[in-house]
Amino acid sequence: MSFFRSTTVPQGSVARQGKDSESSIYLDHQATTPLDSRVLDRMLPYLTDQYANAASHHAAGRAAAAAVDEAREQVAGLVGGRASGVVFTSGATEANNLAIRGLAEAADTRLGVVTVATEHPSVLEPVAALAAKGAPVLVLLVGPDGEVDLEQLTAALDEQTLVVSVMAANNEIGTLHPLPQIVDIAHRAGALVHCDATQLIGKLPLDVGAIGIDLASMSAHKLYGPKGVGALVLTRDAARRLSPQLLGGGHERGHRSGTLNVPGCVGFGEAAAIAADAMQEEAPRLTLLAKRLLSGIEVVGDVTLNGPATDRLPGNLNVSIKGTAGDDLMLRMPSLAVSTGSACSSASPRPSHVLLAIGRTHEEAASALRFGVGRFTTEEEIDRAVGTIVDTIKTVRTESRGALTGRPA
Ligand code: PMP
Repeated sequence: MSFFRSTTVPQGSVARQGKDSESSIYLDHQATTPLDSRVLDRMLPYLTDQYANAASHHAAGRAAAAAVDEAREQVAGLVGGRASGVVFTSGATEANNLAIRGLAEAADTRLGVVTVATEHPSVLEPVAALAAKGAPVLVLLVGPDGEVDLEQLTAALDEQTLVVSVMAANNEIGTLHPLPQIVDIAHRAGALVHCDATQLIGKLPLDVGAIGIDLASMSAHKLYGPKGVGALVLTRDAARRLSPQLLGGGHERGHRSGTLNVPGCVGFGEAAAIAADAMQEEAPRLTLLAKRLLSGIEVVGDVTLNGPATDRLPGNLNVSIKGTAGDDLMLRMPSLAVSTGSACSSASPRPSHVLLAIGRTHEEAASALRFGVGRFTTEEEIDRAVGTIVDTIKTVRTESRGALTGRPA
């Protein structure tokens, strides 16, 4: 795999967040990211002195609302959306549910949904719930790198299609979808496009306005912001066609009732602003670190990359390691925070639906590890992680050879 044979990584712009060289190594940035200390600093006043409800009409309330509106601008600025189209939610799960269920509930003629087999469960499950109620639903299969077949997509659309829901970047195998082409195809068929942009934003540029994405979901905790806050970014047309899923005081222009999480929104805004600045330098650094990790692990042989070898979500790596089981490797490497699939589905013992969708066998899927490199990961940590991973794989393989031959390993 020549693409992944790179070595040096510039370390210059990386702020270390109080790590010592003996601490455990966090390589699970697709599951979540640490809170950037600059984000925490920005949030702190709203967790302490400035606690007013952003819906209150007194001066303190208006100040909180102004801080939330600034965050709206920052989030919209990162993704090229309208600030007034930013609906703050509790995260991307809620944003995905609001998009799909909200559009379906408001629709009268077009009721069809087209999505992709490798989407996040927070898209697939609401879509399955609509199918169970009789909506015409099509789930597209993907190619060996998780790619969508645009001809299949074109053929799947008709005058019944309400919305096409396709993620920007896959959280398990890092596939990047060609959003401009997808939007073009969907719009030509008269369908809206919802994009779960959770993994892409802050890592690669996204301009929902220029591309024409109608609804985009995102979550602060994937870009060094706090957990429990996200957004659905809407065009005017999508905003008109969405039924709220949380009813109450009419917050967020009626799209999502509930007292706003002011510190969360402020933190999300700051995280978005930092990412907008840092992204251009950070993305190549993350890609190099992930390549370094792969070339280190590949030394053991029989390692298969899951997902594309090029044009991949920066920092993401997913490999199947023959003769091992991902959960066993994880248990044997307590100093490493990695994942066997997506964290969201890791509570279930079933193999990853994404790995099965790209044609991996159950055994290959069970032998997969997902790594996610992030803003504060250092080259030294990658090298230390490689040492641990390689030693552990060798031990497991030697033990299983011993078990097969009946001789002590
Ligand atoms: N979509 C994708 C692609 C994700 O990776 C995640 C987080 N695993 C979600 C949605 C859900 O995000 P949240 O944790 O904010 O609910």
